[in-house]
Amino acid sequence: MSETKLRDQITAIARSLFERGLTFGSSGNISVRHEDGWLMTPTGSSMGDLDPAAISLLDDKGHWVSGDKPTKESLLHLAMYEERPQTGAVVHLHSTHSVAVSCLDGIDHNNVLPPITAYYVMKIGKLPLIPYHPPGDINLAKAVKEMASKHHAVLLANHGPVVAGKSLLDAVYATEELEETARLFLMLRQERCRFLSDNEADHLINKSH
Ligand SMILES: [Zn+2]
Repeated sequence: MSETKLRDQITAIARSLFERGLTFGSSGNISVRHEDGWLMTPTGSSMGDLDPAAISLLDDKGHWVSGDKPTKESLLHLAMYEERPQTGAVVHLHSTHSVAVSCLDGIDHNNVLPPITAYYVMKIGKLPLIPYHPPGDINLAKAVKEMASKHHAVLLANHGPVVAGKSLLDAVYATEELEETARLFLMLRQERCRFLSDNEADHLINKSH
C-alpha cells in the first residue's frame, strides 16, 4: 500500500475508534510498518481528528524522521516491531473495560482473562499483565519486549492493552475483541459461568497462532 493510502487508512481507523468511544482525549496510538520504518499517530493528537500529513514517520530503530513529534509511547510499538518481525501494525488504547481489568487485584498475571469465547481465544490467546511503570518509562518498554516474542497482545497494569497484528485491521480487530471480552468478564464476575476448558482453548490457540 502506498504511504498516502496508509496515512488515510490510519486516519479513518483512528476516527472510527474515537467515534465508538474506544479512545478519547489525546490517548492511545496506532502505528503501521512502512518500508524501513513505521508511521504513527503523533503525540498530543486526538484520534478523532488526525491530519494524515502530520502523522509521524519513524525509522526502524524508532527515531523520528518526519511529521509531527511521535509520542513517548512509541517505545511500546518499537518493542513489538523488534521482537516480532511479522508485525505489520500495533494498536495501543486506554479503552475503558480493558483498563478496568488491568486494575483488578488478584488476577492471573500470566493470563489475565479466562477463555470466555472461542473468538477471543483465536484473536488474543493468552494475555499477560505487564507490571506497572509510568507511561514512557524505558522499563515499561523493556517489560513489553520481554513478552513480545511469545505474545502479540499484552495488558499494561493500570494503563491498557498493546496489540500487534500482521496488518492494521488485524491489530484493530484483536484490540476490539479484547475490549469486548474485558467487558464481558466484568459483567460475568459475579455469575456462575462455564468458560472454555483448557483443552478447548488450547485446541483453538494451536489452530490460530
Ligand atoms: Zn498509554
